Amino acid sequence: MRQDKVALYPGSFDPVTMGHVDIIERALRVFDRVIVAVAVNTTKSGLFDMEERVELIRKTFIDTPQVEVVSFSGLLVDYLRENKINTILRGLRAISDFDYEFQIASMNNSLSPDVDTVFLMTSQKYYYISSSVIKEVARFGGDISDIVPPPVYAALKDKFSKVE
Ligand code: ADP
Repeated sequence: MRQDKVALYPGSFDPVTMGHVDIIERALRVFDRVIVAVAVNTTKSGLFDMEERVELIRKTFIDTPQVEVVSFSGLLVDYLRENKINTILRGLRAISDFDYEFQIASMNNSLSPDVDTVFLMTSQKYYYISSSVIKEVARFGGDISDIVPPPVYAALKDKFSKVE
């Protein structure tokens, strides 16, 4: 029997945006399954906690059983090895992503030579979207309805209405 082609998409997803959604949907044209892995981040402190981030991605893909959501801590290559996954998925926006992504992909490949990173580009309309920009705009009441999935829109509204 043919084995499923699986890609693991790691990131902070604080919160998931339409840029991320676009990457996942594109990846499903190439892979049978995408596992979205929310990283327990040691350097960035987030707006949403781990459970909220995972839940928001699950709600976004509720009708897409090929998308699974997990959280992980520690070294990504260890998680991949334990789960027998060889492909990392990452998204590329403008040139600014390249240098950082190149470093991480090279590092992961040298730590675990079986592991490859596949990069997909988003649609141009999502080039300038990042979780941090979305949080800034949402904080001050700007319209983000086109650039986040509906569950995230509701969660951001809720979060910032409590703050103000
Ligand atoms: P990290 O903290 O690991 O960079 P992010 O959640 O910010 O986590 O991003 C996860 C991945 O998604 C990265 O590969 C990033 O380049 C990509 N990404 C984020 N936003 C977009 C977007 N608008 N278009 C394409 N890729 C994106």
